[in-house]
Amino acid sequence: MKKEQNKMEKIVAFLKDNGFINLSSEPYGGFSSSYDYGVYGVEIKNNLKQAWWNEMTKHHEDIVGIDSAILMSPRVWEASGHLSAGFADELVECKSCHKRFKADELEIPSLEEKIKKLKKDGAVGINEMDIELNTKIWKKCSCGELITDLPKKFNIMMKTFVGPIESDTNVVYLRGEACQGIYMNFLWAKNSARMKIPFGICQIGKAFRNEITPGPFTFRTREFEQMDLQFFVKPDDADQWFEFWKQARINFYINLGISKDHLRFHDHPQNKLAHYAKKACDIEYLFPWGWSEIEGIHNRSDWDLGNHSKFSGTDLSYFDQEIKEKYTPYIIETSAGCDRTLLAFLIEAFNEFENGRNNEANNVEYLLKLNYQLSPVKVAVMPLLKNKEGLQVKAREIYNTLKFEFNTKFDDNGSIGKRYRRQDELGTPWCITVDFDTLEDNCVTVRNRDTMLQARVKIVDLINYIKTHLC
Ligand code: ATP
Repeated sequence: MKKEQNKMEKIVAFLKDNGFINLSSEPYGGFSSSYDYGVYGVEIKNNLKQAWWNEMTKHHEDIVGIDSAILMSPRVWEASGHLSAGFADELVECKSCHKRFKADELEIPSLEEKIKKLKKDGAVGINEMDIELNTKIWKKCSCGELITDLPKKFNIMMKTFVGPIESDTNVVYLRGEACQGIYMNFLWAKNSARMKIPFGICQIGKAFRNEITPGPFTFRTREFEQMDLQFFVKPDDADQWFEFWKQARINFYINLGISKDHLRFHDHPQNKLAHYAKKACDIEYLFPWGWSEIEGIHNRSDWDLGNHSKFSGTDLSYFDQEIKEKYTPYIIETSAGCDRTLLAFLIEAFNEFENGRNNEANNVEYLLKLNYQLSPVKVAVMPLLKNKEGLQVKAREIYNTLKFEFNTKFDDNGSIGKRYRRQDELGTPWCITVDFDTLEDNCVTVRNRDTMLQARVKIVDLINYIKTHLC
């Protein structure tokens, strides 16, 4: 466990030192559980979002994309159930299924059940048990878990005000999940793109939750980005599509470089399903602290469109021309956290070499073995020596051509070994060195990040060479 903790600490330090991720508001000492993506972090994040977007909208002709507003009518959140417990209510939260209840709605567990839980939580002495039995609240969740923490005034939705007056009538919410914006666009997207069921609408966007227990690192934060697909299907076909999307989504992670051994499905038992779900499955990644969810796949039934129809008065059902029948579509949702999955990709790619890698024995070196698609920089162009004008001019010429094709960096600082090392830390797949022979034969040395092998490539062939290997 200690080793895994150390690994996470190392990764967090590495991500800060190399311009990937850092606590927000740093000059003020940081702002707890809010994070900024730095100069390389933003590039990887954009690459991940682009890979997801391409996968959804380009590889599936039955999926279209939108970008909906963060601020929406507060009625949306009433219909979705996010406000149903009321703001002033004192709620208890089940640590297992995360449902919240008014304490008096729940049954009280038997003495036997209480003692069993206390023993499981590590209480041993009679005195200790006595105190716990008398000071905690004892309630039993519908999933079977016992709840012992005192109720809190709680709502996960973050609220603000629109307009100049801060009154109850001006309250709006920062959206708690990206999918609600998709339901609001169901009719518009369907009609404008002439979509027929089965079809999907996807979007990438920020969501906000006033989480009680944020962390570790970017795994759970109060502001985060989601990559969401809502796939609308005929009710009878929902099970089949649920299975389809489970496979498609796990393959996305495998194809982008996460080992199969570090991924698994976690199917939710029926008694632990959220109020809207008929079926639920998480894709989990083996983080240094253990298996944890990176994406949720749900069969949300007709709950969302049905409820929004009721609350808004707008009919969100669908007339199926093929079977000449009207129904409220079922929704298969795949909802991935962008920050969370990015953290998984970074952890997976992180490699440490205690005794050097680039001919600098006994120095710790790092390699970020990202899938090339995700790498923030694709190519680094390096003149062998900094102070030789001929090499500089040629290297600049190459850089100026490549920069329009790939994210390219010019690097002439320090020894070649140090420069390779720097690029390995960024996960740059190729380093191109311009040497004296280049001035004669118009060829450069291309060094691959993973194999460290060097190939001599003609300058005119460089773009093709890199493009071919990028795929
Ligand atoms: P968890 O219980 O692990 O916080 P959840 O089950 O509430 O997650 P969903 O509502 O299904 O999550 O959201 C879909 C995805 O959005 C999650 O799989 C996760 O990747 C991401 N996500 C949810 N909450 C957060 C958060 N607070 N910070 C970062 N990512 C989040």
